Amino acid sequence: MKGLMMDSHLTVSSILQYAEKYHKDGEIVSRNVEGGIHRYSYQDAAIRSRCLANALKRLGVTQQDRVATLAWNTHRHYELYYAVSGSGAILHTINPRLFPDQLAYILNHAEDEVLFLDLTFIPLLEQVAPQLKSLKKIVVLTDREHMPKSPLPDAIPFLCYEALIEAESDAYEWPDIDETSAASLCYTSGTTGNPKGVLYSHRSTILHAWASISREALDIGNNNTLLPVVPMFHVNAWGIPYSATMVGAKLILPGAGMDGASLCELIAAEQVDLLLGVPTIWLGLLQYCEQQGITLDPVKNVVIGGAAAPITMIRDFQEKHNAFVMHAWGMTELSPIGTVNSLNRYMSNLPLEARYTLQTKQGRPVYGIEMKIAGQDNQALPHDGESFGHLLVKGPWVATSYYKEDKSPLIDGWFDTGDVATIDPQGYMNIVDRSKDVIKSGGEWISSIDLENAAIGHPALAECAVIGVPHPKWDERPLLLAVLKEDMEISKEEIIFYLSDKVAKWWLPDDIIFVDELPHTATGKILKMKLRESYQGTLS
Ligand code: AMP
Repeated sequence: MKGLMMDSHLTVSSILQYAEKYHKDGEIVSRNVEGGIHRYSYQDAAIRSRCLANALKRLGVTQQDRVATLAWNTHRHYELYYAVSGSGAILHTINPRLFPDQLAYILNHAEDEVLFLDLTFIPLLEQVAPQLKSLKKIVVLTDREHMPKSPLPDAIPFLCYEALIEAESDAYEWPDIDETSAASLCYTSGTTGNPKGVLYSHRSTILHAWASISREALDIGNNNTLLPVVPMFHVNAWGIPYSATMVGAKLILPGAGMDGASLCELIAAEQVDLLLGVPTIWLGLLQYCEQQGITLDPVKNVVIGGAAAPITMIRDFQEKHNAFVMHAWGMTELSPIGTVNSLNRYMSNLPLEARYTLQTKQGRPVYGIEMKIAGQDNQALPHDGESFGHLLVKGPWVATSYYKEDKSPLIDGWFDTGDVATIDPQGYMNIVDRSKDVIKSGGEWISSIDLENAAIGHPALAECAVIGVPHPKWDERPLLLAVLKEDMEISKEEIIFYLSDKVAKWWLPDDIIFVDELPHTATGKILKMKLRESYQGTLS
């Protein structure tokens, strides 16, 4: 017998419609790419998004067409989030940090005909333009005053975003869309092979946003002021443009200003209480605060994900800025949130040092995500906090396959994340490593993440990476690559001594090489594959 309840569809436009009614005065503050700060309300955003939906129609965009964006976190990008998906087309956010060849590949693969781009990315577009096969129109996200001349052939005209919006009426009826249809598309920043497209549905987007606002997840409410430093060009900025709008939180969009000074300015001026971003951004911010003697007084919580948050960062935020770190884990294929390490009763009762240690774990699954770890034979491993295996997940916002790829990546209905993890009896998941990065030494595994986290606690180190390097006796041994902070000097022996009471003796790196910088992927992760290629002969 079926339940006798309404079956209304969960659509992206419904969030903005709700915000226009119930959070109409809620603010969106955005740092313009042209300079200056733009400030308006959810009601203004809803009105402009309807104008934009009319403009899309005039540009010839129809249902399920892919519409590309190459843009920072700004109010204009926010409007595209709603107008494109809300009108039934598919928002294809592109990561400008991908290599130009990968960029051209995904624009062609998605068959994007219209591209909206920020002024900053015009040189990038010029570089890839000769390879583009489907692109017909380009809209520059600016006003008439800042409109540049197109460097491209006349066949692909440059249109002005503000002029397009001005010309349209705000009378627009958001269509009723099947909730299972695609709303947005984001390509993985794959380190091997071509990037793969993850196609989010309206339903998965809503469920993910709904789950993530909960107290046990990101704890986002109407009273919060959020600063997502996670880019809107990758995994929908962790869904914040949707979740913040659901609750009418004050939303601060940092534009292209992700450096310490720009962030500190926004945090103080707008009284930001919740920050969200990857560890490298916070390293920059914390260093800047230290140099300038600034404390982040309004900030209460900092969500750190995308890479492991070291204990020193967790401690610094707490002890220097009185801000609690919520460590989170996810991936493009998970929309992205899988786990969040939020403050709960269990954690509150722990002594401070034990709490910091617990905070280094990536947390417990948010409601909706199922999680298990499995060994080589695919057998489930115990949740004892010791056994580690391949992390498998399931849930309504987890990808079942990739765009235009027939082969399903699922194993018995589970998605293999490519991460190796432990799960403890309380359900806390801890990422040991990417399965490709774990160091196999004499039949045992060494976690490169744990070693990096231990090393980065040394005050002389700005950044570091540990890789497994082929070794004649042990298969692989750890090699530490270290970037020193400005004006710092230190010997290899001092670092080994520093590590010696923090990790098992057989985990200690066989060698340390000081480098000026480390290579990063388009999403800010260290490109370990490249490091392994460069340093493979160093221990044999
Ligand atoms: P992406 O799809 O680019 O967002 O990358 C997802 C991958 O980033 C995951 O599979 C993990 O390997 C890594 N990752 C994400 N969050 C964390 C975290 N908190 N700690 C360690 N690794 C993480």
